[in-house]
Parts: sequence; C-alpha cells; structure tokens
Amino acid sequence: MNLKAVRGMHDLFGPELVAWKKVESRIHSILSAFGFDEIRTPVLEHVEVFKQSVGDDSEIVEKQMYEVLERGPTADGKAAEKLVLRPEGTAAFARAVLEHGLHRTGHIGRYYYSLPMFRHERPQKGRLRQFHQVGAEIINSTAPETDAELLVLIDHLFREIGIQEFTLRINSLGTAAARAQFAEALKKFMAPHLSSIDEVVRAKLQRAPLRILDTKDPSLLEIVRNAPTIGEFLEPQSRQHFETICSRLTALGVPFVIDPLIVRGLDYYSETAFEVTSNALGSQSALGAGGRYDGLAERFGASPIPGIGWAIGLERVMLVLGTQLATEAHGPLAFLAPIGPAAFELLLSKSLEMKKSGLRTEISYERDKGLKWHLKQADRLNAQWAILVGDSELSSGLAQAKNLRTGDQQTVPIDKIQDFLHQEFQKT
Ligand code: AMP
Repeated sequence: MNLKAVRGMHDLFGPELVAWKKVESRIHSILSAFGFDEIRTPVLEHVEVFKQSVGDDSEIVEKQMYEVLERGPTADGKAAEKLVLRPEGTAAFARAVLEHGLHRTGHIGRYYYSLPMFRHERPQKGRLRQFHQVGAEIINSTAPETDAELLVLIDHLFREIGIQEFTLRINSLGTAAARAQFAEALKKFMAPHLSSIDEVVRAKLQRAPLRILDTKDPSLLEIVRNAPTIGEFLEPQSRQHFETICSRLTALGVPFVIDPLIVRGLDYYSETAFEVTSNALGSQSALGAGGRYDGLAERFGASPIPGIGWAIGLERVMLVLGTQLATEAHGPLAFLAPIGPAAFELLLSKSLEMKKSGLRTEISYERDKGLKWHLKQADRLNAQWAILVGDSELSSGLAQAKNLRTGDQQTVPIDKIQDFLHQEFQKT
C-alpha cells in the first residue's frame, strides 16, 4: 500500500503552515486595501474553460491537466463528461464573471483569489503538481493606469511581505494582428537555424512561434536573443499604451526592465505581459506573472470584456522567505501545570474559560506528574509561559508564572491568571 502523498503534492503543517498563514494574511490585507474582493471558484471545471482560453496547444492544455471522469452518463444520456482540476485561475475567473454577469456593473471590478492549482509537471524545487496561487484580476478597464496599478500592487506586495530582491520584467504583445506579423518575421529569422534546433522546438515554431521565446535552453536562447522583437511590429495604439505604463511606473518609482522575451505561454494574453523573477529561486525563477487578456471573453463566445491580472506562486514566495520565517516561534501562550488532583480540577475549568476568551493555553490531562515533567511538556510545546499550581499555591492563592523565554518567575493571584495572560497576549 502506498501511503505517501501524491508526487509533487505536499502536506502543510506546523511552523511551516504558521509562516504560510502569516504571509497569506498579509497578502489578503494588502489586496483588500487596494480594493480587491475575494472570489473562490471550484476545483473542478469543464475542460472547455481552459481549452477555449489558455489554448489547445499550450503546455497546460496539451500535457499538464489532471482529468476527472464524471460518474455515469449525463442526464441526456451522453457519455460521462471529463472534468479537469483547475490548472490556473484566470480562465476559471473569466468563466465565473460571465456566468454571474460580474462585468455588468458598469464600473471597474477588482477581484482576487487564493487557491490551489494542479498541473502534471515534472516536480523539482519550486515546481509542484499541486501548488497555490494568489491572483489579482481587474475587469472593465482598458486604461493603461489599470496596468500600472496592478504592477504597483505586485511590486508593493512583494516588498511588504519581505521580498526585496526581484525584477519586474514587462513587455507588450500588441494586438493579434501585430503578433501574426511578428510570428511570420520570427519564422523567417529562424529558417537558417532549423537544422540546429530540436524537433519539439521546430514543431512549436510552426504552431505557436512566439512560445519559442519562452525557452530556457541556453543554445536556443543565444539564437533568439538576436531575433526581431515584437516591439518592431506594435501598432501606434499599443505602443502608446505601453509607453504610458512605463512612464507611470517610472514616475511612481517602481523599478522594471523591458524584456522582449516575455511572451507568456497562454493564448489569451494581448498587449501588456509581465513576469517577476528572483535570483534566489534557481531555474524556476518566476515568482509571479500576468498580463492583459482583453480578448478572453470572446474566446468563450461572449462580447469583449477588458481584463488584466497576475498570479503569484505561494510555494516560491515561501521558498524565498522560508528560512527567515520558519524558525519563528509557534506554540501556546501558556502551559497550565497542575501538581495534584485539586489543582488539576481548578486549572482544567480555567483552561477552558481561557480558550473561550481567545487565549491559546494547554493543559495536560495527567494529574499525578511533578513539576519537572510539566516544565518539560511546556518546553516541548514551545509555550511562552508555564503556570504552576500545586498544594502550596492553592493554599496561598498565588500561582507561579514562569516565563519560558527568559526564565523569570513571578507570582500571580490564581483568580487573576486569565487577566495576566491577556495582558501578556497583548504584548505578542
Ligand atoms: P503561470 O500561471 O504559469 O503564469 O504561473 C504564475 C506563477 O505561479 C509562477 O510565476 C510561479 O510562481 C507559480 N507557478 C506556476 N507553476 C507552478 C508549479 N508547477 N509549481 C509551483 N509554482 C508554480
């Protein structure tokens, strides 16, 4: 029997999860301050949601989706339907926007999600099969200020959670017509190199030429560095849009570089595309990425809805922050140590009262252990305080409160333990 978690999928618990929750909670407050409302879409979607939007020949749709067979035939007698585990957030978000008419408000809509994603990729450091993305999406605005706002937000968010070293790379993919012209130019440029590139890249060059620019292969990278760039094919309006974003970012002091090799691997992107990379991550260097997707709704057969968004990978964020956060303390505020049955009865009821009042305390159900044993337990649980009550404390009405961080000890009236711990809690 294989009782291990599925390859590329991890359990999260203990100090690691505490660190995650801290970062997530900070991210949620930042997004909320920027006016984003949360949306949660289901884990399972119809396969078309991604096929129609992300693109049939994208890596995600071609080889990375987990499929789930719905049970039994459909109500109208057709064969059981194939559903997929959500591989990315934007297409599912766009499906929800259309389903609930979230675009019909007549004003800009700002939404965010924080959800697990599933892709059947080869697992390695920073690349999992179940991973978590926080994504921000803005709909109903074509203004370049919207693009700038999202880029300011991603820059601010990384800095606020403690990531200082990263690079924001931006590019414009222009319109579909500009991309078509660029694709032809790219094919022409690559023609003399066909013999030196492998079959997979040759096939990609035919079907989705821009995607070869996404390569990590050093020899191909060497070639494509000298290729024509999309910038040469941009229409005046796209150029203007991109220049406005760049000048807004410069005016706002947001550092960025223009990187003509940023093309994004998904079909729904147009105009602005960007990626945030970190040197701390090795080969899987992207911390987050996104772009404009004004044509996405049309891919679903609906009228156009302008949209732009990004998604950041939480596992990679935690890898960069990891060592810094994982060592932080995690444990109860106080461990209650009753020495003897009478003290046990008293502290047991106090412990439940304290929990109800919001204080994280623990008590052992062992009632015949000595002081040393209790202190050892308190230490193992990483408690901040040990509250000791034995027979002499019961008769004096004063408990011993030992600060396990400093070793200091003081007496606290037994009927004031809860107040005392509330005061200490305020200090944390
Ligand atoms: P994408 O949706 O591929 O543009 O990815 C957006 C972000 O999600 C990336 O920049 C990564 O931080 C993260 N990400 C994508 N794929 C994975 C994966 N397989 N494992 C962990 N993080 C990922």
